[in-house]
This record gives sequence, C-alpha cells and structure tokens, in this order.
Amino acid sequence: MAGLLPVDEALARVLAGAQPLPEEWIAVGDCDGRVLTRDLVAGRSQPPDDVSSMDGYAVRAADLPGRLRVIGESAAGRSFAGSVAPGEAVRIFTGAPVPAGADVVVMQEDVGREGDHVVIAGSARPGKFIRRRGLDFSEGLTGLSAGTLMNPRRLALAAAMNHATVPVHRRPRVAILSTGDELVEPGTAPGPGQIVSSNALALAAVVHRAGGQPTLLGISPDRLDETLARVRLARSQGHDILVTSGGASVGEYDLMQQVIATEGATLGFWKIAMRPGKPLMMADLGPMRLLGLPGNPVASFVCAMLFLRPLLLRLAGRGDSADEAEEAVLGADVPANDLRADHLRATLAVRDGRLVATPFPVQDSSMIRVLAEAEALILRPPHAPAAAAGSPCRIIRLDS
Ligand code: AMP
Ligand code: MG
Repeated sequence: MAGLLPVDEALARVLAGAQPLPEEWIAVGDCDGRVLTRDLVAGRSQPPDDVSSMDGYAVRAADLPGRLRVIGESAAGRSFAGSVAPGEAVRIFTGAPVPAGADVVVMQEDVGREGDHVVIAGSARPGKFIRRRGLDFSEGLTGLSAGTLMNPRRLALAAAMNHATVPVHRRPRVAILSTGDELVEPGTAPGPGQIVSSNALALAAVVHRAGGQPTLLGISPDRLDETLARVRLARSQGHDILVTSGGASVGEYDLMQQVIATEGATLGFWKIAMRPGKPLMMADLGPMRLLGLPGNPVASFVCAMLFLRPLLLRLAGRGDSADEAEEAVLGADVPANDLRADHLRATLAVRDGRLVATPFPVQDSSMIRVLAEAEALILRPPHAPAAAAGSPCRIIRLDS
C-alpha cells in the first residue's frame, strides 16, 4: 500500500496553523477546565491581618504565666478594636484578627477562667497560634500564571485573590455532522438496512471533555444539496471546527470534494497508515477547519482521540496531548504489526505495581461494545515485531 501517510504527519497537518483562541472574560465560578490568558495577581493579602489559628485568648507572652483580665472579644468578622495592655487578655476565636499589643494566642484548653479573669499556668513563645498577615499570599503576588489549566482548587485561589472574572481562551465551537443515507437517530424504529447513528453523540462528548462546545447538526443524506446546506449552516454559525463522520467511500469522497469546491476551498483526503481508521479529510473553509472522520464507529472514535482532541486542546490553549501516552506492559502476546500503526483496544490493571494493558482478543473495528469496555489503546508502531506478554508498550487512556 503505497502513499499511506504516517500518523504523526497527519496530526501535523491537522494542527497546522492552529493557535489558541482569543481571550474572553468569564465569571470565576465558570473557569473550571479553562486556560488563563494572563497572570492572575493577588488583589489583597491572605490572611488580611495576623489572625488566630485557635479558639483561646490573645495575650502578651511576657505576662505568662499569670492571671490576666479579659477586656473583650475578637471573632472572625468582628474584631476587637482596642489593644491589649500588660495584664490583659482578649477572648479570641479561630480566624479572628489578633488585637494590637498581643503577641501570642493560648488555646482555651490551657486556660482557666475565673469570672472576668483567666489563669494561664504555662508560658508560650511569641507568635504561637498566630497566622501572619500574607501567610497564604501577599497582595501583588502572581498566584496563577498565564497558561494555567484551571481546576476546582485553582478556581478557589483565583476567587480568594478577589477576582470576580478571569481571562481565558475562548472554548472551541465545534459543529458535528453525521453523513449516511442509512443513518437514523437513536430511539427511532430503524427500517430495513438502517443503522442507528452513534458517532455524533460520542464525538460531542469527546469535544465537551476536551474543553470544546459541541453543536449537533444531525444527519445528512449522501446528497450534494443536503450536505452543502449543512456545511453552510456550520459556517454561518461561526464554528471553529466542523467534524463530519462517514463519507469515506470513493463516491462519498467525490461528494465531499464537490461540496468543498463549491465553497471555494480544497479538500485534502489522506489515507493514513493506521488501524482502525485510514481515511481522513480536511479543508479550511475560511476560519472554520473541516475534519472528516471515517464512519466506522471505532475508527471515528480513535481518529477523534488522535486528531480532533489534540486540535481542540491546542485551540483551548491546553498544551500538547502527545505527552499523554504512558508506559505499560502487555497483558497478552501480540503478533508482529504491518505497515499501519495499530491502536489495540485494551483493559488496564495494576499488577505488582506495574500498569498492565491487555488487548481484547477480537479487535474488529466495527465493535462498539469492545470499545465501550476498553480503557486504553495500546499503540503499536508500524512494523513493530511480535511482543510477548510482560514486554513494555505505550498506551493512551480513553477516559481523558
Ligand atoms: P462510511 O465511512 O460512510 O463508509 O461508513 C462506514 C460504516 O460506518 C458504515 O457501516 C456505516 O453504516 C457506519 N457509520 C457511518 N456513520 C455512522 C454513525 N454516525 N454512527 C454509527 N455508524 C456509522
Ligand atoms: Mg457513508
């Protein structure tokens, strides 16, 4: 089979010219999974004052041990306005500002209360049970850097630094179109020869997980006018990507080529040295990149993981998915590979501290059930020699 394009080369073409999308400002509570376009600087110090880390009494260390008069109370949100003079103490609660004059907090378990006095038998070193102003962060500190992928913990930090809105890369908008005269939506009563369309829904879920915003454009019959209408709809809606599934046969390719030519672009059609998969289409329709995946459900999914997901991550500013492959060992013997990179559906287990990837015995690329049970793809390079159970391999997890 001459003219097969290596997977790396195909990926490079899919990513060519793709840049992180422009900035938008969103509510800090919505930024989980988004990537910062700028550094976030602390707008205040945390804690904003020296505060107590215990319930107890704020006193002067030099007064200890001793009997001290309680002159007031400092609680979180209701601090004590005065200051602590020699022989005095202030009742204090966790998180409350330590009053002026006091330099230590004695926890209440070590204090005897006698009316408006306290008796403290031990001594304490200054600073004990006091969290210093700015212990967590000081005003002006860069708490989160541009390029950071936000998660619930970093979201908390952005909020604590007093940011109500944050600047992030816009999410890729992705239109998804199924093509095929035989396809019907799930839940209908398929007629003779009809197939329930599952690819588009799976692709939408992949898009969502990779930080994109999917829009389902439904099913197009294999007709020029119908396909053209949907491609134009996707363009008019301002999507960054249009993903199609199906249309991999020569006649259908001719159709897609006509559609794209009518739109004034050139359709790239490559046969890729991979299994499952092989045909992949690409065209740039103005700012919208069309990615045409094979219709075969497993091939469509694997191509989405290998080509669509990296494109989405790039656009969302989320870095390079090539780093995501992991080392594992084979859980079963595998035969020598031919010239097409293979992506074996496999389960994962940890045995003796090693990650073991076991390929399913049947790797038919039409089997959605096996794909659903799989946890990883074992990456078998072109011409890889036969390998025995226990030998090293590389995998990508399917749940990312
Ligand atoms: P194609 O690439 O259009 O030649 O389709 C190859 C195979 O994938 C055919 O058996 C199709 O019925 C099947 N197929 C195509 N599109 C879908 C889809 N959206 N969902 C499930 N199967 C599909
Ligand atoms: Mg088809």
